[in-house]
Amino acid sequence: MKFGTRILHTGNEIDPATGAVSVPIYQVSTFKQERADAFGPYDYARSGNPTRDALEATIASLEGGVRGFAFSSGMAAISSVFLIFSPGDHLVVCEDVYGGTHRVLTRLFSRLGIEASFVDFTDLSKVEAALRDNTRAIFAESPSNPLLKITDLQAVAALSRERGLISIVDNTFMTPYLQRPLALGIDIVVHSATKYLGGHSDLIAGLAVAADPRIAEQIRFIQNSFGAVLGPQDSWLLLRGMKTLKARMDLHQSGAGKLAAWLAGREEVKKVYFPGLPDHPGREIHEKQAEGPGGIVSFRMKDEKTARMLMEKVKLPALAVSLGAVESIISYPLTMSHASMHPDHRLRAGVTGELIRLSVGLEDPDDLIEDLSQAMIEYGR
Ligand SMILES: *Cc1c(COP(=O)(O)O)cnc(C)c1O
Repeated sequence: MKFGTRILHTGNEIDPATGAVSVPIYQVSTFKQERADAFGPYDYARSGNPTRDALEATIASLEGGVRGFAFSSGMAAISSVFLIFSPGDHLVVCEDVYGGTHRVLTRLFSRLGIEASFVDFTDLSKVEAALRDNTRAIFAESPSNPLLKITDLQAVAALSRERGLISIVDNTFMTPYLQRPLALGIDIVVHSATKYLGGHSDLIAGLAVAADPRIAEQIRFIQNSFGAVLGPQDSWLLLRGMKTLKARMDLHQSGAGKLAAWLAGREEVKKVYFPGLPDHPGREIHEKQAEGPGGIVSFRMKDEKTARMLMEKVKLPALAVSLGAVESIISYPLTMSHASMHPDHRLRAGVTGELIRLSVGLEDPDDLIEDLSQAMIEYGR
C-alpha cells in the first residue's frame, strides 16, 4: 500500500472489540492478571498501553522499521536513545543539531562520561576525521536547522556500517512522508512529534523507530526502565494528527515553495535557505534521498534591525518557538531555538542576528506574502 493509505490503515486499525473507527483511549495504569504467574499482553501501562501501541505500530510502519516507541517529548526520545551508550563512548554529531540535543549532550551526557564531537556533516571527510576508537554512533539531521543544510544520509549509513557504528537520524523536519532514513541504511530514526507529526501545536511528544530487532530491544528496555513514556491521551491526539500528515505536508510544501521564491526576489532579503530553490547547496543529494523540500524556509535580512522589525510587524505568523503546525510560526534562532548554544558554536552554525526561520502553515500563501510584504515595506519608510 502507498503512504497515504498506510497512514490511515496500518497500526491504528478498527477496534476489533467494538468496531470503533478511532482507536479508543485506554486511560488505565494496570491490567488484571488471571494468575500471579500468567501475564496477558498488557500488565502495567508504563510497559505497554493499547493506545500507545497503536501509535508505535503506526510510526514503525511509516518509517519502515521493526518497532516504534513513543516518548513524552522529542528530547525524551532522543535522550532515551542516547542511554544505549555507556561512559567512555563517543558520538559524532552534526554541528547544527537541534539546540536541545546539543544541550543534553554537552551538559548532561558529558557528565555521565559520554562525549560528543560536533562537525560539519555537509563534508563527510570531516565526519570521518572526527571518528575515534571509542566512537559508537553518528547522529545527523537533514535538512538541518536553521540553515537547511543537507547531509548525504546514505553515505553516513555506509560509513557507520563500515566502522560498526550506530547511525541515528532526527527526521523531524521531513517526516516519514518525505524521507525514510531507515530505507537509506540508517539504524535509528528519532522525531519530535510535537512538530509536523502532531501538526496542530497542541501536544509535546517524541518517537523513535529502529531498523534492527536487537537495537529495538535495547530501546524497549530503556523505554520501560527509564520510563519517559507518552500517555494515552497524547498518544491518541498524535494518532489523530498523523492521519492528515500527507494532506498537510503537501500544502506546507507548496506554500513554502511560493514563499521561498517570493523572498528570493525581495531586495530586503539577503539570502534564502530552502531545499527547493535551484541553487540550494546539496539540493541534488536532498532530491535523491527525500521526496520534497518540506515546509521550512529560513532567510537572512539585510541586518539585525530589519530582521527584528519584520518579526514584530508580521500579523499572521505567530512569533514562537516550534514549527510544523497548521498555523505559520516565525522564529528568531539567535534568541530562541539556538539560545542555549555557545556563541562560538552558534556563529559556526550560521545563526546570526539577521536570520529568521519561517515554518509555513496552511494559510493561503498569498495572504502570507502580503503580510510579510507589509512588514518589510513599513520598515523601509
Ligand atoms: C523540537 C525538536 C526537538 C525536540 O523535541 P521536543 O518535542 O521539543 O522535546 C528535537 N529535534 C528537532 C529537529 C526539533 O525541531
